[in-house]
Amino acid sequence: MTDIIQLLPDHVANQIAAGEVVQRPASVVKELLENAIDANASEITLVIKDAGKTLIQVTDNGIGMSTTDARLSFERHATSKIKAAEDLFNLNTKGFRGEALASIAAIAHVDLKTKREQDEIGTKIEIEGSTVVSQEATVVPTGTTIAVKNLFYNIPARRNFLKSNPVETRHIIDEFHRVALAHPSVAFKMLHNGDAVFTLPSQNYRQRIVGIFGNKANEKLVPVEEFTEIVKVSGFVLKPEFARKSRGEQFFFVNNRFIKSGYLNHAVSAAFEGLIKEGLHPGYFLYLEVNPQSIDINIHPTKTEIKFDDEHAIYAMLRATIKHSLGQFSIAPVLDFNKDSGFDTPYAYSKKNPIAPKIEVDPSFNPFKPDTVVKQKHTSLKKEHTPAWESLYTGLESKPANITFESEEVTGALFDETQVTKTSLATFQIQNKYIISPIKSGMMVIHQHRAHQRVLYEELLKNITVKEAVSQQLLFPLVLQFSQPDIKLLLKVQEQLEHTGFLFSTQNDSEIEITGVPISIQESQVSPIFEQLLSDIKEDVPDTSFSQNDILAQSMAQSMAVKTGTVLTTEEQEHLVNQLFACKEPSVSPKNKPVLMTMEASDFDKKF
Ligand code: ADP
Ligand code: MG
Repeated sequence: MTDIIQLLPDHVANQIAAGEVVQRPASVVKELLENAIDANASEITLVIKDAGKTLIQVTDNGIGMSTTDARLSFERHATSKIKAAEDLFNLNTKGFRGEALASIAAIAHVDLKTKREQDEIGTKIEIEGSTVVSQEATVVPTGTTIAVKNLFYNIPARRNFLKSNPVETRHIIDEFHRVALAHPSVAFKMLHNGDAVFTLPSQNYRQRIVGIFGNKANEKLVPVEEFTEIVKVSGFVLKPEFARKSRGEQFFFVNNRFIKSGYLNHAVSAAFEGLIKEGLHPGYFLYLEVNPQSIDINIHPTKTEIKFDDEHAIYAMLRATIKHSLGQFSIAPVLDFNKDSGFDTPYAYSKKNPIAPKIEVDPSFNPFKPDTVVKQKHTSLKKEHTPAWESLYTGLESKPANITFESEEVTGALFDETQVTKTSLATFQIQNKYIISPIKSGMMVIHQHRAHQRVLYEELLKNITVKEAVSQQLLFPLVLQFSQPDIKLLLKVQEQLEHTGFLFSTQNDSEIEITGVPISIQESQVSPIFEQLLSDIKEDVPDTSFSQNDILAQSMAQSMAVKTGTVLTTEEQEHLVNQLFACKEPSVSPKNKPVLMTMEASDFDKKF
């Protein structure tokens, strides 16, 4: 009796594999875009005809392939991305199975054109149903173009199974979104039947989201950020009022790869609990970074599901972080409620003199000393404002908004700079990072760098918009070099910078001469401040509701603020604390991060 088992011919095996890899045109789009990313492209163009049924073409400016590699790339299990099984545990690329091109070539007509930087002449290969039809040398730019035509031409059942053009196009756009959102620094273009659908320059994460979902998206985003040892989380959630019935804008990326995770989605929903109606789904764009060795992305053939080693910890952390961001953000509605028309320049500073608070103050009043009693003559003041003071010392974490408003005039006056020397706060510094101060209900921990940022930010904003700061003349003007576009940017904000104390003029296309700097600034700080400023201006999304002044103030406050790790004398600590509480919003940094937290004595009691 003859043996009956045979090896399947390659093209049949490839067709079978294709069943797994290529379900629809969108699957091809995903594989080609990911290959372009893996090839380190900085510009990628996707061209689609008839919802991908006639043509799917991806052009990249990545590393390209040699002639041999170009030919090999269509073999099954041919990959440049892993060499041994161990590599699977340390993946930095999208692909690794070496199956995509082989599968696609089994069920379509594929044209590949590719060239490496170091080669003068490129390679062109045409394949139909796994058979190489032609191969020749060709003149092409560095990078790769793969055109996939007539998908499923040799499997009519699959072809007939495809949905209408709008449905297939939707799927393609979904895949495009996922790759484009995961790689904002890569420029993308997408054309459908000759029309540009997306044109996305190299951007930051926020700009990319806005680039895809439109300008309105910008106001909906609440930033989320937390770095721990097992995971770094950054990105945005949509404000609760933009939750939707359908699960529209929900994106998780792990190490820049789009993933689906019911479990993590649950963590996000849990953070929104009580903020959105039942049945609505929150929107989010969350980027997680974990050690590649702590995940297994291999449990699903199309790789959108992954397994984390520390799933529970990530769940808890995600929920807490988002809750926290939403809590911070809840300041905004209160501010909005009180907002007047000039609010787009924060705090409604305009070019007029601020009105001094008309409250009489007792300079000996020191809220940091529980035994300091407010004197009798101030009973009326005390009566009116005690709740606010109490909230300052007890409820800072949960209700920052109350502090901001109810105590606004009082904080401004009570901690006027003239009193700094008169009050003694009993502060001390730990780890050259936090300032600790006892308060009535327990203790307060202040993040020194963020506190100083808040102080400088409000001061700078005031200088830019209301009064001009004093400038110190430099004995020898400082000449700094910049690119021509950067100089143009600096000239645009020259007036505002002069208000803060920076005096400069342009020398030529590439240099500015600085003749004056703000009093508090050392010469060595000037260059980093300008560099930071330029990068922040460039990063900014043009359509933000905040004014340019706000960006300037934020950026300069960040560069100028006393850094973590700086030793502060007791006087400096006290001065900073006093200045902080003279601010309009002492509890959050200009970038909306917490500046301080309180710990209740009752919490200590529980621990002992
Ligand atoms: P995988 O991505 O899993 O390695 P593919 O079948 O998608 O498998 O691709 C096979 C190989 O072809 C890749 O490992 C890579 O070396 C090469 N390749 C594919 N697309 C490109 C591209 N756009 N630029 C450069 N090389 C590519
Ligand atoms: Mg691939």
